[in-house]
Amino acid sequence: MAKLTVRDLDVKGKRVFIRVDYNVPLEEKDGKMVITDATRIVETLPTLKLLIEKGARIVLTAHLGRPKGKREATMSLAPVAVKLSELLGKPVGFIDDCIGEKVEAGVAALKDGELVLLENVRYYNEEEANDPAFATKLAKVADVYVNDAFGAAHRAHASTEGVARVVTARGGKAAAGLLMERELKFLGDELDHPVRPFVVILGGAKVSDKIKVIDRLLEKADTILIGGAMAYTFKLAHGEKTGKSLVEPDHKQTALDAETKAKKLGVNFQLPTDTIIGTPVDTGKLNKKGKPVYDFVDIKTIKGEIPDQAEGFSIGEETAANYAKIIASAKTILWNGPMGMFEDPRFAAGTNAVALAVVEATQKNGAKSIIGGGDSVKALNKAKLGDKVTFMSTGGGASLEFLEGTVLPGVAALSEK
Ligand code: AMP
Repeated sequence: MAKLTVRDLDVKGKRVFIRVDYNVPLEEKDGKMVITDATRIVETLPTLKLLIEKGARIVLTAHLGRPKGKREATMSLAPVAVKLSELLGKPVGFIDDCIGEKVEAGVAALKDGELVLLENVRYYNEEEANDPAFATKLAKVADVYVNDAFGAAHRAHASTEGVARVVTARGGKAAAGLLMERELKFLGDELDHPVRPFVVILGGAKVSDKIKVIDRLLEKADTILIGGAMAYTFKLAHGEKTGKSLVEPDHKQTALDAETKAKKLGVNFQLPTDTIIGTPVDTGKLNKKGKPVYDFVDIKTIKGEIPDQAEGFSIGEETAANYAKIIASAKTILWNGPMGMFEDPRFAAGTNAVALAVVEATQKNGAKSIIGGGDSVKALNKAKLGDKVTFMSTGGGASLEFLEGTVLPGVAALSEK
C-alpha cells in the first residue's frame, strides 16, 4: 500500500516534526565551522516550501556526524540554520537542544509558516538506542510527523522511527516528505513494475555486499550487467586466475548460484570479457593510517586470466562497448556500483562509458534511469552527468537495503494512505 505524503496532509496551524538529512560536510575556517556542500539542505527546500505554504509550524530535526551522546561543538547544527535561512529567504530559529523546556517554549512561539531547527539529536545516546522515553520527549512538540531523510530510514532510531510510532499511537499522522516520496517511487514502484527491457547494472567491490540485490533483481530484470571487483569472484568461481585482484573466495558458490538462477529465469546475465590490469608496486610510503601506499605499473587491457603479479581494476573497452549497446536498448535502467576503481582516472574510463550510455538512453530513448545511491552517484557527479539521469538516490546503505527488498523501519513507521 502507498504511504501518506506531505501532499495529503492538512497541517494549518499544526506542529509538524520533520526529520531531515542535514548531515552535511563541514570544515573549520578561522575558528568557525563552515558548510562545504549544502546539497542536502537544498534538497529539502521543496518539502519545506510546501509545508510553509500550507501554514505548518515546522520543527526540524537531524543528526550531524557521530558525537556519540556528547555535546560536540564541531557537530552542532547551528551553521545549518543560518544556511537554511539564507536559502529560504526567511528566518529559521535555532534551539541548542532537541528535547526539554527550551524546545517546548521555542515551538510554542512559532506562528503558521515559521520554522525552527533543533540541535543534533545524536547529542543523546538515546537517539540511536531508539529509547521510547526519549522518543516521547521528542514527540512533545509533534502533532504530525514527517520523514524526509531516506538516507537514515534503514535505522530504527528515535527520530527516524520512535517519534512516528508515538505520534501515530496518539492518532496523529506520519507522512513521507517529497524527497522520501521520490525515493519510494523510483526505488520501489518503478522497479516493481518496470517498462521493459529492464537492464540492471551492478558493480562495486564485493559480491557479498550485493548478492541480495542480485538475487531479488534476477526475478525482475531482463538483463544484468556485472562490473567492478565483484566480477573477479565470478572469474575465480569459473576456475580462472585472478592474480592479486580483490576477490571473495568464500563467495564462489554464491556467484555460481546467481548464474544458475539467471539461466533458470532466462535473464541475460553478462560478465566482463576484458579487464584493465596493473601491477602493484610498494612506493615505500605510508598513508595516514600507517598502511603502505602502492602505485600501479604496466597498466594494460587483457582478456582471460589475470596474471599472478597483477590486479584487475576495471572493465575494459570491449566490455564497456558491449554494455553500452545493451544499455541503449533499455527502457528502464537501474545502476548500483562502479565498474572499476573510478576514483583513479587511469581506471575510470569503463565507469564513465557506462555513465554516458545511461545518460544517452535517458535523453535520446526516454529510458527511465535510476541510480541506486552510493558510489555510482559519486561517479556520475564526478563525470558531471548527475542532472542527466531520471533519478539519483540520496541513500547509501538505505538504498541498498531497500533494493534488497528489506522493509526499512523509517518507512514502515509511516501511515498508509
Ligand atoms: P561499493 O561500495 O561496493 O559499490 O564499491 C565501491 C568501491 O569499489 C569503489 O570505491 C571502487 O573504487 C571499488 N572498486 C570497484 N572496482 C574495483 C576493482 N576492480 N578493484 C578495486 N576496487 C574496486
